[in-house]
Amino acid sequence: MPRVERPIYLDHNATTPCDASVVAAMLPFFRDEFGNAASRTHAYGWAAEAAVERAREQVARLVGADARELIFTSGATEANNLALFGAARAARADSGGRRDHVVSCRTEHRAVLDPCAALEREGFRVTLLGVERDGRLAPDALREALDARTALVSVMHANNEIGVIQPIAALAALAHEAGAAFHCDAAQSAGALELDAARLGADLYSLSAHKLYGPKGVGALVVRRGPKRVRLEPVLHGGGHERGLRSGTLPVPLCVGFGAAAELARASRAGDADRHTRLRDRLLARLTSELPDLVVNGHPSERLPGNLNVSFLGVEGEALLAALPELALSSGSACTSAKREPSHVLRALGADPARALSALRFGIGRGNDEAQIDEAAARIVEQVRRLRAMSPVWDDLRRGHAARS
Ligand SMILES: *Cc1c(COP(=O)(O)O)cnc(C)c1O
Repeated sequence: MPRVERPIYLDHNATTPCDASVVAAMLPFFRDEFGNAASRTHAYGWAAEAAVERAREQVARLVGADARELIFTSGATEANNLALFGAARAARADSGGRRDHVVSCRTEHRAVLDPCAALEREGFRVTLLGVERDGRLAPDALREALDARTALVSVMHANNEIGVIQPIAALAALAHEAGAAFHCDAAQSAGALELDAARLGADLYSLSAHKLYGPKGVGALVVRRGPKRVRLEPVLHGGGHERGLRSGTLPVPLCVGFGAAAELARASRAGDADRHTRLRDRLLARLTSELPDLVVNGHPSERLPGNLNVSFLGVEGEALLAALPELALSSGSACTSAKREPSHVLRALGADPARALSALRFGIGRGNDEAQIDEAAARIVEQVRRLRAMSPVWDDLRRGHAARS
């Protein structure tokens, strides 16, 4: 059988491979060390608990937090749900109903937007702020939205589609001035950027292991302590695990893997950032030198090191992906049922549907090298040229240029 080459993986914003050392760290906890971390009466339980507590310290250290501030969850989706429902409901209850307003942003992940919609159905008032054309949320926009009823503000650190980094410290300070709590979805940034929970200033941070070379199915919510610790109402009720905030037997092997991945990220984050930025810039330089009419979506520099989001005007992103089986990446559209919807993130930047539907997202990660980037760029240039040559839209676009010049 001839060896079939696997596609070049350029979708690290969707998920990252689990590092081999992380898999090795987890294995004993699938086999001999199978105890329940909540079992207090025997050595199996003690070993599991010790492993979980070590992992808790490792993950906390990655974001400059204290281990006691970390609640393990099944991922960032659950952490976001716990933060939004937990903090909004508690604030409304504790204020006798006076704080019933939640503020977030149109470019957030679905795991924030959908809980916001659910809170609205519970009677909360929800404000979703727009962004600048570069994807950044202007602090003034938040300032105008805040009032004495605002219970919670939720803004992500780095965007999963366009990589744009939000000015969290300034936004959190404004929320606090208004007496509101601040949640930050840091699923994309924790493994890629220096993240100091205290300096950044949010009260709550969501993390996900599989975005930083750890296993799928585990994440965390950081609940910062201090004079104004945010009270949360639990979403999952049961055995009272995780300080009563997240009941359910902990997945010990996954927690251990998360800890090992966090340790690895802490050591390699700065070096990775340099390397991924260089690869990203190389990819963009190759594409722009060969192809006219590209639009980079999102801020040119205030973005994740490995992220690039480009609209290839005149070409449908889905058609381009279909023509590139040797590359694993994703388009600027979300496939909800059979219909292709332009990405809500790209629409929030003011991109028309054609520009939004012509976008590809590149997520560069640890496994990529220069040869892969060059190969990917060459394939894309070839296919964009071919598709544009057949595209009536592209003809119109070109004629528009000619008429204007
Ligand atoms: C991946 C991601 C999530 C969801 O995380 P899971 O751990 O897969 O549930 C949430 N927010 C952002 C920004 C993400 O990138």
